[in-house]
Amino acid sequence: MNGVYVLIISVSKDVVIRVGAIGNKYFEKGMYAYVGSAQRGLENRVSRHLIQTKHSKFWHVDYLLNHDSVKVVDVLHKVADKSEECKIAEKLEEKSAAVRKFGSSDCTCTSHLFEIEDYEFLKTFMDLLLGG
Ligand SMILES: [Zn+2]
Repeated sequence: MNGVYVLIISVSKDVVIRVGAIGNKYFEKGMYAYVGSAQRGLENRVSRHLIQTKHSKFWHVDYLLNHDSVKVVDVLHKVADKSEECKIAEKLEEKSAAVRKFGSSDCTCTSHLFEIEDYEFLKTFMDLLLGG
C-alpha cells in the first residue's frame, strides 16, 4: 500500500534532542504532528514508528521517537501519492508552529513536523485533509 501518514506525537516534558544533521532542537512539552509517506509498505513503516524500541536513526523522526519522553499516540493515514505529503505539510504550517527543517531535507517545505496547540482541532482538521 502506498500512502501518506501523519503521526500524532506526545512529548511529555521539555527536551532538547539532537536531530541528525539539523542539530539540537528544542521540543516544548506538548503535541506534535509529523507528516510522512511510504511508497511501498505503508503498514510496515507505520508499525516501525509505533514500536517502542530504539531504532537505528534513519529518518529525522527516529531521533525524536527514540527519546524516552516521546511517544506516538495516534496515526492517521491515507492512500495517496507522495505529492500529497507536502500538501498536508503546507496546510499544517498555516495552522501551527513548524519545527524548522525537520523531515523536509528532500523537499522545499519549511518542515514536516508541527507543534499542535489544540489536539481536538488537529483531529478535526486531519479528518478533513485525509478524508478527501
Ligand atoms: Zn515537503
